[in-house]
Amino acid sequence: MHSKKDNKKKLLWLQGVTCNGNTHSFLNLPYLPLLLSKIELLYFPTMEALYTFEEISECKLSCDILVFEGAFDPELKRNDILIQTMLEHYSKNAEYVIAVGSCASFGGIFKASAPQRNSGLLFNESERTGPMLEVDQKIINLSGCPIHPEWLGYTLNMIINHQKILLDEMHRPRELYSNLAHHGCTRNEYFEWKVDAKGFGLKEGCLFYEQGCRGPMTHASCNKILWNEVSSKTRSGTPCFGCTEPDFPKQNFFNTKTNMSIPEDVPLGVPKRNYLTMAGIAKTFHIKRLEGKLIDYKTTP
Ligand code: SF4
Repeated sequence: MHSKKDNKKKLLWLQGVTCNGNTHSFLNLPYLPLLLSKIELLYFPTMEALYTFEEISECKLSCDILVFEGAFDPELKRNDILIQTMLEHYSKNAEYVIAVGSCASFGGIFKASAPQRNSGLLFNESERTGPMLEVDQKIINLSGCPIHPEWLGYTLNMIINHQKILLDEMHRPRELYSNLAHHGCTRNEYFEWKVDAKGFGLKEGCLFYEQGCRGPMTHASCNKILWNEVSSKTRSGTPCFGCTEPDFPKQNFFNTKTNMSIPEDVPLGVPKRNYLTMAGIAKTFHIKRLEGKLIDYKTTP
């Protein structure tokens, strides 16, 4: 006889070449115990689960949701078995394969250090040449370095509730990745009037022109779904690094590439000429409130 437990989705978490960042991030999900009560955890690297790694590496079980963290490396072995063999076995019957983090999605940091060997599951940066092409319809990419725990929480809840997850062309859930990191940034007013931040950690100024912020070019909901429910990189005064995009990591995180003072990349979808015209006009205005310390600005004489 089937118990209620038998109807729960079986989740298995495998790791490629990784720093464990996404594992740690997931452990910070505020409603993790509730989510775990709705699934059957076959294996997880740092939490108690039904099976040990030795048992799952025998490849005799099957799962409904395969989560893969880290870059794919065809030579990587764990417990003397190729990770590739385990990936092929567990992805065969799985309904979904979730690539968590930029390494599993596009290669990320580890591809940058071993470009000939490492890649994402489906994509190698933005090229569709990863090792899991045969099961491409099952793959959901949750890019980010690391991912926001809520992004995985959202995806798992959608699967558990049999909801359709719409994906973009890079297989990322549209609900989470159609926003730019720029959306919801508290510095948007500074961006509009071209008032630049002079350093990190300040409340005032936009980090785009002088500090290398990739917010206007990066699909991510970091400023919509806040980290630890209160903050984000740009809210704390650090530029967005563009970690959810296939070309992450770019060189020189804190530098905006310019050509004769013109930024090489301008906000997504905005023609460069239009951006430059708007920026030129905005710069001619001097808005006192935006030029000093917010805390010093007085509205009464
Ligand atoms: S700091 Fe970055 S995300 Fe925020 S407004 Fe400026 S460019 Fe946009």
